[in-house]
Amino acid sequence: VTITGTVHVACPACDRGHDVRLVQSINAASDPASKQRLLAGELNVLACECGKRTQVAATVLFHDPGRHLYVRVVPEGGEVEMAAAAAQFAAAATNGTQRLVPSLNALVEKVKIFDAGLEDWAIEMMKVLLLSRVDNLGAARREQVPTLDRVLLFDGATDDALRWVLFDAAGRAPESAASRLEDYRRIAARDASRPRETEYRIDRAWAVGAVQAMIAAAN
Ligand SMILES: [Zn+2]
Repeated sequence: VTITGTVHVACPACDRGHDVRLVQSINAASDPASKQRLLAGELNVLACECGKRTQVAATVLFHDPGRHLYVRVVPEGGEVEMAAAAAQFAAAATNGTQRLVPSLNALVEKVKIFDAGLEDWAIEMMKVLLLSRVDNLGAARREQVPTLDRVLLFDGATDDALRWVLFDAAGRAPESAASRLEDYRRIAARDASRPRETEYRIDRAWAVGAVQAMIAAAN
């Protein structure tokens, strides 16, 4: 069942009012069309006559029964809502993977990672490792900035490589990058790094801690 609703929002560019149909629950098995719209960046978007496209912030629950995956989008800044969603996950006691993310874009990345048959926690750790030596990604060294501030998005996997999109310090100028699949596999094989079932937010902050723990254990 796909739960939908309608909200009235004003275009941030021209202030015209619009009714936007919101999808707030997606079952990947029974509603593949909504999943495709999500992946295409077309879900919950206000497309105004003035040309401006705006993503409407809303809670969304994504469920892929085939992968036993539940991901809930709790829009950025909603810490009270995040805590409530975590309590709901804990009470649900499913035997699947449960994740909380702050945006639809973060949900899209999770879906891509799980669809590729990869572990999101190992992907997040790879990002931290790759960003700490950004030259290894073959990316131009245009500016010296704390590299962990940069956004690196998983974009897909081939037989021997992971594909990434790396953004500059301002979150713009995306460039593609690649890393060896074998490096990912070494991380994914580390049971000591695997998050507990009740760790729902597997993001940059989580991964920085996990990499630090890995380095401390090696020394
Ligand atoms: Zn507009």
